[in-house]
Amino acid sequence: MTLATWTDLVYLVAAVGFIYALKGLSSPRHARRGNLVGAAAAALAIAFTFSNPALRSSGTNLVLAIVAMVVGAAIAVPTARLVKMTAMPQMVAIFNGVGGGAAALISLTVFLIEDPGKPAVYRIGEVLFGVLVGCVSFSGSAIAFAKLQELMTGRPVTYPGQQVINALVGLAILGLALATLVTGSTPLLVVMAVLALALGVIFVLPIGGADVPVLISLLNAFTGLAVAASGFTLNSNLLIVAGTLVGASGILLTRMMSQAMGRSLPNILFSAFGSVVTAGGGADGSGETRPVKAGTPEDIGVLLAYARKVVIVPGYGLAVAQAQHTIRELADLLTDKGVEVFYAIHPVAGRMPGHMNVLLAEANVPYDELKEMDEANPEMSTADVALVVGANDTVNPAAQTSPGSPIYGMPIIHADQAEHVIFLKRSMRPGFAGIDNELLFDPKTTLLFGDAKDSLTKLVNVVKSS
Ligand code: NDP
Repeated sequence: MTLATWTDLVYLVAAVGFIYALKGLSSPRHARRGNLVGAAAAALAIAFTFSNPALRSSGTNLVLAIVAMVVGAAIAVPTARLVKMTAMPQMVAIFNGVGGGAAALISLTVFLIEDPGKPAVYRIGEVLFGVLVGCVSFSGSAIAFAKLQELMTGRPVTYPGQQVINALVGLAILGLALATLVTGSTPLLVVMAVLALALGVIFVLPIGGADVPVLISLLNAFTGLAVAASGFTLNSNLLIVAGTLVGASGILLTRMMSQAMGRSLPNILFSAFGSVVTAGGGADGSGETRPVKAGTPEDIGVLLAYARKVVIVPGYGLAVAQAQHTIRELADLLTDKGVEVFYAIHPVAGRMPGHMNVLLAEANVPYDELKEMDEANPEMSTADVALVVGANDTVNPAAQTSPGSPIYGMPIIHADQAEHVIFLKRSMRPGFAGIDNELLFDPKTTLLFGDAKDSLTKLVNVVKSS
């Protein structure tokens, strides 16, 4: 067999590995294995690429490639190990952005090398696509990172004439792309790349913080497509397959996230959602002055210990408090006392898809105790207690009852249907969408104020002694 055949064969194995990895990632049960298979497939592909005699004979390129990989790994490995779970979306944003930037640079470099002889139109088309989409993904991801990392405001940034400016930049890019296609001019391509970087920035600026994770998923899909385009440019079947897989899965994930939020993608991208903030201004930032019923750990602990059925509704605050082990301890204690306990998981609880599954898996919560929203909701009316731990928007009835609300249309976990509702949170501050939650004022609701981990520890002690 020739080297080319071997290369195709190994790349085929790697591509199958990527597909298997995606399949594995679709369930918490096999996610770890899927991840390992994907990493092994990538390692195999890289190792085989380095065995290519053409690469080995060009000493400079090889050294440069190894230096780039060492620098990249030195940054990425500690970052990925040390990142807090709640900061995962911004890490994905920045890693995704550099992927898009790399794809754009590859396309640009190939074009520069093929210049001055004008390449075929289809070659220029591949390069244009890779540069355009890769640049938008790079700069857009950088702004998304800055928003989530609070290096800049998370609110939508709007200014007069925004639509007109966006349209003009879009038209200029289109014009330059057509001109490059006809002339094969490098300077025109470079100007288009600069404008594409600007487009990424102005596209993301008006998108509010709460919608940024959906945007990141979309930009992730863009990066995949840019990588696929650079695969065409480099004649690499593996890059084409890997890029297409990332593009397709990113688009599917974006769609699923929009559906789980009950909103259309155009609405998320263009409606400046995060600017609608109805709360704020009060001593604790909530602006609320109405009384609520605050409970003690003793009252609530006893209520839980003597309940028949308790449904735990985890949310972003559980991740902030890192209380996954303590909630499991409480659930185990209750189960030992004969209480039926399960976790109701909302698809967009937390700040990234699957956030709660990952968090609870860390505490080895058995999978059969996790129920997806559609499975959990029919059981809510038979629950004695809905224990809402650091969740807010995902149980807010306004999503069903207030047509003017920014979360209107989002399916929710029906904590309001349980006989008693207990909220563990630190204050009256709203959730990520920035809106008040009427359920906090419902007569059947009791609040236990404090950090979720502290409150849960107190509840564990009460239940132990009940
Ligand atoms: P929310 O952001 O609505 O609410 C979190 C609550 O946790 C707040 O009310 C906060 O109140 C409380 N909290 C924060 N820290 C702590 C702590 N240490 N201890 C106790 N409580 C704490 O969370 P949900 O999970 O209900 O909703 C997720 C939101 O994120 C939705 O709006 C969703 O649309 C959005 N989103 C999610 C995505 C995903 O993929 N998961 C993607 C895009 C958006 P207080 O400050 O008073 O403690």
